[in-house]
Amino acid sequence: MKPVNDRALVLLSGGQDSTTCLYWAIDRFGRDQVAAVSFDYGQRHRIELDCAEIIAAHAGVEQVRLPIDTFSALGGDALTDPDIGVTNQVDDSSGLPNTFVPGRNLIFITYAAAYAWQHGVDHLVTGVAQTDYSGYPDCREETLAALQKAIQLGMESRVQVHAPLMHLSKKGTVELARDLGALPAMAMTHTCYNGARPPCGECPACELRARGFAEAGVEDPLTSTQ
Ligand code: ZN
Repeated sequence: MKPVNDRALVLLSGGQDSTTCLYWAIDRFGRDQVAAVSFDYGQRHRIELDCAEIIAAHAGVEQVRLPIDTFSALGGDALTDPDIGVTNQVDDSSGLPNTFVPGRNLIFITYAAAYAWQHGVDHLVTGVAQTDYSGYPDCREETLAALQKAIQLGMESRVQVHAPLMHLSKKGTVELARDLGALPAMAMTHTCYNGARPPCGECPACELRARGFAEAGVEDPLTSTQ
């Protein structure tokens, strides 16, 4: 079997974490070896897709946008259904926050792997992390390891799934972004669950982001340039 190559595909949502991962991949594999993929999954905040495009161009990497239009048809989550308020409130029956889209990351990574397979790319990079988050089960290390194994078997592939933020706190993620020179790109990212720009500062995503920057002692270029 051929050795694993150095080409990487970053799952770029347009948010803080995936943007940090893009710079991590550029640092590790080299800019020429890196491309980005973004998913148009019917998210309420289309601004994310614009951010992803701008960030990829700023970073100097190719980006492709892939449509997945089934999430909203599945129904019932706050990130795709405009009738549901985004509160991160935990649902009593599932114990999961109402921003949980069942299997979202499994589906994204599987699509990315299929795209990577077609393009001869052996590394996938995702910004999922099991720290700091609301317990999304598809962000756990164990889930990713099992998915990597399934993809390797199911696609006869050597793909490696990297999650450089897996064990980092939000503070650690901000420090990593700073160390990788990714802070200017942070001004182009989108985090707010309410889709506001400038960000609302009050939703759980805005609060988490603000806390990470504050704890790292770094000024957030997104809020400081508005
Ligand atoms: Zn917000």
